[in-house]
Amino acid sequence: MHANIVVLPGDGIGPEIVSATLPVLEAVARRHGHSFAFQEHDIGGVAIDRHGVPLPESTLEAARGADAVLLGAVGGPKWSDPNAKVRPEQGLLAIRKALGLFANLRPVRPHPAALGASPIKAGLLEGVDIVIVRELTGGIYFGDRTRSETDASDVCRYTVEEIERVVRRAAALARSRRGHLTSVDKANVLETSRLWRDVASRIVREEFPDVTLEHQLVDSMAMHLLSKPRAYDVVVTENMFGDILTDEASMLAGSLGLLASASLGDGRTGIYEPIHGSAPDIAGKGIANPYATILSAAMLLRHSLGLEAEAASIEAAVSAALDAKVFTADLAATGRAVDTQQAAQAVIERLG
Ligand code: NAD
Repeated sequence: MHANIVVLPGDGIGPEIVSATLPVLEAVARRHGHSFAFQEHDIGGVAIDRHGVPLPESTLEAARGADAVLLGAVGGPKWSDPNAKVRPEQGLLAIRKALGLFANLRPVRPHPAALGASPIKAGLLEGVDIVIVRELTGGIYFGDRTRSETDASDVCRYTVEEIERVVRRAAALARSRRGHLTSVDKANVLETSRLWRDVASRIVREEFPDVTLEHQLVDSMAMHLLSKPRAYDVVVTENMFGDILTDEASMLAGSLGLLASASLGDGRTGIYEPIHGSAPDIAGKGIANPYATILSAAMLLRHSLGLEAEAASIEAAVSAALDAKVFTADLAATGRAVDTQQAAQAVIERLG
């Protein structure tokens, strides 16, 4: 197949990890008879410097016309003045909104070679394979706000349609995996959560009878995620609960440098990016871990291009590189570390 992929390297280590990832996609294309055209555009701090805005119209237009978007990371000390009118992160929020991306998927599958890097006991982590699906466009982060001398308020609001579409995404994913969906809410207290629970129950009952649905309160989920992470397959939740639980879940995997993500909507075009930031402390040194970006590219092949075998071959190759202890500095506690390009090359050499 032919696919147009828009590439947004962004700031800090973004350009390094993205330029290490593109040869992996090219190698997959060669092996499987596809052709991928890459079109690079600015976002974040680099876009503020060059265009005065974090999301130039040209970037958005290109993304709208693409099959998928691969993103590095945005931000850095140069643009971090909290009083600045334009900030790099605004570019990310704006592009997700403009593309109608409402579901953020974060897989957490700790690799045996990296278990030691997690603060959680290795015995609890073996066999963990979770995908958290976080609602991305509604809830308290987008509700009306008020502020006076003596009080402040943030409104949490969800519509039936917003809940239906993200639960459908998550249930379809559960169906393609182990068939188990956990919906997380606070239905003992919040009205939005009671609506969430009703809608989730109906969608799964009517449209996914083969998927097992379990409801879990967010406070107990916060405990269970650490005490019995193996019990979960796909977890779906609203925006703020998802924000917190995904960061908690990232600790299961040990290194930020291994965690990929996808932001998806109703169309095929999604944005794929590592969950870590632009790591300004190591930017320009060529030592950043590219695995999270490479694994994000695998998600791109799976979710936007429907290339499951190709996605799985990248995931297996990263896993094999980790098995062979091809570690960048963040993973190599002791011993020799490879650089960004060498890590990506090790993945290419192991592609099936
Ligand atoms: P960070 O994720 O950039 O870095 C945290 C720590 O992890 C640093 O020590 C860094 O060196 C290390 N690290 C991160 N990714 C790594 C990789 N691939 N390989 C090796 N080490 C890695 O978080 P931060 O320092 O809090 O934020 C830095 C900047 O990134 C800020 O401007 C922040 O706003 C931005 N940020 C952007 C995104 C995004 O683009 N989606 C996400 C988070 C933070």
